[in-house]
Amino acid sequence: MSEPALAELLRRGVDLLSRARVPSPQADAELLLGHVLGFSRGELQAKALVGAQASSERARAFLDAVERRAAREPLQHITGVAAFRHLQLRVGPGVFVPRPETETVAQLAIDALLAVPSPAPVAIDLGTGSGAIALALATEVAHARVIAVENSARAFVWARENAAAVGVSNLRLVFDDLAHCLPDLEGAADVVVSNPPYIPDDAVPRDPEVRLHDPAAALYGGPDGLDVVRALSHRALTFLRPGGALILEHGEQQGRALRTLLAADGWRDPVTHKDLTRRDRATTATRP
Ligand code: GLN
Repeated sequence: MSEPALAELLRRGVDLLSRARVPSPQADAELLLGHVLGFSRGELQAKALVGAQASSERARAFLDAVERRAAREPLQHITGVAAFRHLQLRVGPGVFVPRPETETVAQLAIDALLAVPSPAPVAIDLGTGSGAIALALATEVAHARVIAVENSARAFVWARENAAAVGVSNLRLVFDDLAHCLPDLEGAADVVVSNPPYIPDDAVPRDPEVRLHDPAAALYGGPDGLDVVRALSHRALTFLRPGGALILEHGEQQGRALRTLLAADGWRDPVTHKDLTRRDRATTATRP
């Protein structure tokens, strides 16, 4: 290949991705070509418009990346980064790719933390994965102390790398299990937040990116999807001070089940919140 125009490369990429039924071929082609050339999506679009070209070596790298995406490897595994709120998180095999809907869950936790009158409110993120929610809290509520727990060794490595890259001093990462973690924090937290696995075991996701590349431990929550939620509800009651807030992400069909479960465990005021696509996405409740 000589030095092809970026616009021509994009056309080839979009065509290959469309034929592989990738959901957003134009966006993904632009993001992959930008990744290979070191440009943002906007910069790439501008360069393509004015007729810029790529070296044959970069063109080859782009077509390799497109081939991986056409095989339905997640875009974020190919570029190595996932955007989450203002963060660029490193992700890859072994860790759940943060989703846009979880940004609204993080917002609920941020609002709850900001409402705490204490000069150093404490938040716990249970099952932090890449560290997405915990790092959003630690950076956006700088006076908070954030503790993030993860029990998957492979995911923990990504969380540690992200914490180091973001460079926060108010985040403590703990490699442990939900059931035993943080005995020192019982009765000491103001906010507990989690995006737990909540897909029912037999509701295997259609998208190969999710089914084949997100860790099963981050997706499936037992027969009704709520096994980990039940454990979280009990554990969060021990962590929170009276009046403390619990924020749990869940599936769009699970709002009522979450409210019922939390009310039965003694939580006050369970309320379900929608994400940006107006789907039920998180339920909050107050420790009595
Ligand atoms: N939201 C996930 C998905 O879209 C489901 C599991 C989770 O987030 N905890 O596949």
